[in-house]
Amino acid sequence: MDAPGPPAGALDVLGLRDRPIGTALWSPHSQISLRMLTTEPRWIDVAFWAERVDRAVAYRDALAPDATAYRLVHAEADGLPSLIVDRYGDYLVVQLLSAGLEAFRGEIIDALKARLEPRGILARNDVSVRRRERLDQEVELLYGDVPETVEVREGDVRWLAAPYTGQKTGAFLDQRENRMRAGALARGNALDCFSYHGSFALHLARNGAHVTAVDSSAEALERARENAAMNGLEDRIDRVEANAFDLLRELESRGERFDVIVLDPPAFAKHRQNVDAAFRGYKEINLRAMRILAPGGHLLTFSCSYHVGPKAFRTMLEDAAADAGRPMRWVEWRGPAPDHPEIVQIPESAYLKGAILQAV
Ligand code: SAH
Repeated sequence: MDAPGPPAGALDVLGLRDRPIGTALWSPHSQISLRMLTTEPRWIDVAFWAERVDRAVAYRDALAPDATAYRLVHAEADGLPSLIVDRYGDYLVVQLLSAGLEAFRGEIIDALKARLEPRGILARNDVSVRRRERLDQEVELLYGDVPETVEVREGDVRWLAAPYTGQKTGAFLDQRENRMRAGALARGNALDCFSYHGSFALHLARNGAHVTAVDSSAEALERARENAAMNGLEDRIDRVEANAFDLLRELESRGERFDVIVLDPPAFAKHRQNVDAAFRGYKEINLRAMRILAPGGHLLTFSCSYHVGPKAFRTMLEDAAADAGRPMRWVEWRGPAPDHPEIVQIPESAYLKGAILQAV
């Protein structure tokens, strides 16, 4: 198909009777052709990007996260649709996720450099959504230098982020405060399922638990080992390479019991069509986990599937608890750390949900 109208960039949008309704990013080939930037027409120049970046950074400054790695720009939720900027210490990792935004790459990088003075900026543009914008998928150093691994602090633990090769921009930053919460609940025997680089396990072990960290990826567990060693916690974290579904069943049949269990699986429903299968998958692991909790034990359980919304997630937990056959106390709802804000009018910005339950 030929590109309709002007090339990717920004344009003014007219509503009924040609009334101007604002300026938007324009992606000629995308299913999302317009992403609103303003509600009044405005010239989009370097000053515009600098203003929006300032606003996003001021919000994080006010949050004062107890960590050196966190999200600085969360796309629409920061008035910067299709832009992600994560800070890992002195380095920034960005994702430019639309053709309209890509047209302003130079201005955006200049604004980030001026406001944050990073030592390097890496683009993790190796994401499939860029294909829908007819953009190349690539990892590209945009400024300065960025090392293979960056040591970051999160509360009282340290871990290595992998900006070039790690998931998302190098780590899962949205779970930061949930990991710290896990640390506060840590005791006795703990199980961290879908552990990735062991980041929940580190907080659990640092706070006195003996942890079994489970992941199906040997590579992820190797990084978990390095992270444990960096914190002097190697002898408190056992690593198990296994399918968490199988292992949970096995732990149940062996009669094992845990005081704290974390379930942080990948998105089981990447598409709307997979919701039923995803629901069954979540229910399966949650009900097994509920059964192997020690009396008074805590379950911290999460879903990052946007298509499994908070209501469905709660229903899933009710079903799992009914089948587990033991009363579970609702302790609290959890969501992403506040540097990943959700906008009330943009339900699509809410994807990560979680709960803490306790075996009564
Ligand atoms: N809790 C982590 C993020 C987990 S990402 C954090 O806070 O950083 C999900 C992880 O689940 C990945 O590391 C992936 O390798 C692992 N995984 C996917 N399917 C799995 C399965 N069936 N069993 C065990 N691990 C699995």
